[in-house]
Parts: sequence; C-alpha cells; structure tokens
Amino acid sequence: MGPPGAGKGTQAKFIADHFSIPAISTGDIFRANVSQGTPLGVEAKRYMDAGEYVPDEVTNRMVSNRIVESDAEHGFLLDGYPRTLAQVEELDGMIKQTGHQLDAVVVLTVDSEEIVQRLLQRAEIEGRADDTEDVIRRRQEVYAEQTHPLIEVYKARGLVHEVDGLGEVDDVTKRIFASLSETSES
Ligand code: AMP
Repeated sequence: MGPPGAGKGTQAKFIADHFSIPAISTGDIFRANVSQGTPLGVEAKRYMDAGEYVPDEVTNRMVSNRIVESDAEHGFLLDGYPRTLAQVEELDGMIKQTGHQLDAVVVLTVDSEEIVQRLLQRAEIEGRADDTEDVIRRRQEVYAEQTHPLIEVYKARGLVHEVDGLGEVDDVTKRIFASLSETSES
C-alpha cells in the first residue's frame, strides 16, 4: 500500500521475484484492458482518467478471477488492491475460498508533495492520460479518503510493515526485506 507514486509497482516486482510469486497489479490489468479496448477497459477508463476508483464490483471480480490462475496457487502479491474497505472484506472472502492467507501488508510512506513532483515527472516520460496535475492531486485525495484508513484495519491485525519509501529504489527494497524478515524470524 501507499499513495499513487510511492513506488509500489517497482517494489512489488522485486518482492514478487524474491518469493517467486506473481505480482498482481490491478492498475496494470486495467491499463492492459484499456489498451486492448475490452469492455472492462472501456468501463475502467472513464474512472481512471478522472483519478477516481473503478467500482468495487468490477475490481473485485477481476481480482477474484486472477488469483485462481495457476501461477498464483502458491501465493501472490497484490499491488494496488485492496483500496477500499469493501475490497478488504471481499479479499478476505476470496482467500478463504482459495485457502490462502494474508501474511503481510507493506506500506510505503512518502511525503505527498514529493510524490506529486515525482508523478509530474513520470507523466512527462510515459505520457499517461491519468497524469495531469489535477488528476494527480485528485488521486492523492481519493487515496487519503478511501485507502489510507485501511492501514489501521491491517494494523489491528498485526500485518503492517511501514517502510520509508523515499530515496533510492535499492535502498527502499532493502528496507522492505529487512522489515519482512524481522517478523518471520520472531
Ligand atoms: P495504479 O496504477 O495502481 O495507480 O492504478 C491506476 C488506476 O486504476 C487507479 O487510479 C484507479 O482508477 C484504478 N484502480 C487500480 N486499482 C484499483 C482498485 N483496487 N480499486 C479501484 N480502482 C483501482
């Protein structure tokens, strides 16, 4: 978890590689559907372009179909999901069905102004349609309102690893692994 632009996607790939599990990014799946012009992509695009969340029902169905694929049988890392309380509850139900359990929730903490600057830079490089300044700020707001509160929910379950997300990519990765191994050794 972490606000848009905290570096979740980059770190997700490192963690997933380390544990030989797939990194499942809802944002990536939506973007792939958008570029293929599927009905899901057409629906998701209008929310994404505005910086709003795609409705829970659509997102939940997509994740539930993805985690039953064979590569996820021995575990998976979710990047960008869950983002709402309804998604937390839905995920609990899904993994009960598949027989998985939630081992850890990694939260990348970053300063929000620093993030906005990072995202503006990325928008220039990648030309993402959802990366105009207004949309970037809206995405931060939506995160603060709808997703940030989930950290408390997972803290109450003792699952949260809060990691400083600022600095070099490698340093952040090291912090994540250090934090994750602290729990597994205790
Ligand atoms: P991301 O690349 O993770 O920042 O996701 C890009 C966009 O996809 C978000 O701004 C949302 O519009 C949509 N999206 C991704 N994950 C979710 C989710 N779990 N719930 C609702 N919308 C999502």
